Amino acid sequence: MTDLRPLCALTIAGSDSGGGAGIQADLKTFAAHRVHGLSALAALTAQHTRGVTAVQVPPVAFLRAQVDACFDDFAIGAVKLGMLANAEVIHAVADALEHHRPAQIVLDPVMVATSGARLLEPDALDALRQRLLPLATLLTPNLPEAELLLGRSIGDRAAMHAALDALRRIGARGVMLKGGHLPGGGDVVDLVADEHGVHEIGHPRLPLQAHGTGCTLASAVAANLCLGRSLHDSCIAAADYVHAALRGGYKPGRGNVVVLDHF
Ligand code: PLP
Repeated sequence: MTDLRPLCALTIAGSDSGGGAGIQADLKTFAAHRVHGLSALAALTAQHTRGVTAVQVPPVAFLRAQVDACFDDFAIGAVKLGMLANAEVIHAVADALEHHRPAQIVLDPVMVATSGARLLEPDALDALRQRLLPLATLLTPNLPEAELLLGRSIGDRAAMHAALDALRRIGARGVMLKGGHLPGGGDVVDLVADEHGVHEIGHPRLPLQAHGTGCTLASAVAANLCLGRSLHDSCIAAADYVHAALRGGYKPGRGNVVVLDHF
C-alpha cells in the first residue's frame, strides 16, 4: 500500500459504451500517465464503432453530486471537460467549477462526433462561450468546433491563426486549435497559444479513421498539468501521446474505426 498521492484528475464528460472516446478514453489516458482518474458523468451514450444509437442525460443535480463528491475528498490537480450535451448541463458545470475553483481546466468543446452524431445541442453554444470559455486554462477545439464557436469558416493556415486570435478575444486564455480537419495532405499541424506565445506542433498525418483523439488529447493535457508540467510542455507532450497512441491504434468492432492504444 502506498501513501495517498495528490495526483488526481477529474473528467466531466460523456460515457462512450464502445470504450473508444469520452470518459473511457479519459480514464485510460489518466492511468497511462499514472494519474488517479475521477469521473463525473454528464451524459451517457449508447454507441459502437458505427455510430451513436442513443443519448441519455442524467439530472443536473446528480451531476453536481458527482462533482461535489470528487472535490470533497480528493486533491484535484486538473479538470477535463468533454461532452456536456446541453445548456442546462453547461450552467451546472460552470456553477460547480466557480464554487470549487480548480487550478487547471482543459475544455474540449465537444459538439459533433466524427460519425455525425450531435453531442451538444446547437442552442448551447452561447452558454459554452459565456460560462465555460472564461474558466478554461486551455480550450482544445478542432476546426469544425472553432468554426461553430466563431461563426465563420476556417479554410487554411492563415485563417487558423486568425481564429486562434479570435478565440482568445472571446475569452479563452490558452488555445490549442487542432488542424487535422484542414483539407490537403502533409503533416497535421496544431496551433497553440500558451504562456510562450503562438507556436505550431506538427505530426505526420496517419491514414486512419480514428475515434476518441479529441478526448484523449484534452485528457493528456490535463494529466500533464496534474503532474506539474507547464501548459506549454503539457500541450507538446499530449500531442506526442496522441500520435503514439494512434500509431498503435486498433479496430475493436465491426466498423472501420480505429481506437487509440493506451497500453
Ligand atoms: N462519444 C463521446 C462521449 C465523446 O465525448 C466524443 C467526443 O468527444 C465522441 C463520442 C466522438 O468522438 P470522435 O469524434 O473522436 O469519434
